[in-house]
Amino acid sequence: MKQLLLNAAEGPMTNPDLVAKRVAAETKQASLMNGFEFKLNGQKTTANQIDDKLEKSTDLAERKAVWETSKEIGPALKENLVKLRGLRNGVAKEMKYPDYFALEVAAYGMTTDEMLKMLEDWMATLRPLYLQLHTWAKYKLAEKFHQPVPKKIPAHWIGNRWAQEWPGLVEAANIDKYFEGRKPEWIVRTAEQFYTGLGFPSLPDSFWQKSDLYPVPPNEKRKKNTHASCWHVDLEHDIRSLQSIEPNARWFFTAHHELGHGHYFMAYTRPEVPYLLRIGAAPGFHEGV
Ligand SMILES: [Zn+2]
Repeated sequence: MKQLLLNAAEGPMTNPDLVAKRVAAETKQASLMNGFEFKLNGQKTTANQIDDKLEKSTDLAERKAVWETSKEIGPALKENLVKLRGLRNGVAKEMKYPDYFALEVAAYGMTTDEMLKMLEDWMATLRPLYLQLHTWAKYKLAEKFHQPVPKKIPAHWIGNRWAQEWPGLVEAANIDKYFEGRKPEWIVRTAEQFYTGLGFPSLPDSFWQKSDLYPVPPNEKRKKNTHASCWHVDLEHDIRSLQSIEPNARWFFTAHHELGHGHYFMAYTRPEVPYLLRIGAAPGFHEGV
């Protein structure tokens, strides 16, 4: 019942006008994002090219230009995002949640206060370790780029658009050379073998036919979301993934991660599991894979 109400709160039919407006605004936001063309010094560039440069370039001026290019999507998304904020808060209020944040947090079985307290506690617990790691990283990066040690690490010094990961700090951890000359198909088939090697069943044939796993060729007009994801389309055997796999370590990790979602979806597809419960225990449940 709880899950049913949570699902209903995303599109409450007590207010069809609001839901229609939200669906239209979400669709518009997705198409703005997927259709966005990054430009570096006036030249078209792709998310994969941006990520490669941030991982490999040692030229700080180039890194700054590339990082700034990666952020140009923000202003393009802002106007409609502000509109969406109001609409999302509106659907949550329709189901008696104070705001959309509270609705999202409810999917973890928590209130806003409980979630914020948990995050604050983690921050406090991790802070001593974080400070040490941060200090080590800024000395290491200053050495790498031949710069004075900064107080805070400039964002374009880090090898990831969002500083989600801090790759390239330790030479020995660079495994890209193992992927040179490999085909993108090899990356994702190897990821699949990881799971079958653990004794999990193979992904259904339709996964390989219906997924969209490789970058759009430069001569094609089609746009696609460059962020990897995996979908349990019909909550049965139709499982698909969206990726833009190139033969490098980053996509090797990502392919393993996305297929992890797929194997969870397969595990949920059993007659004794009702459709409503064919999702993770919480929205973050699969993300550790
Ligand atoms: Zn994921």
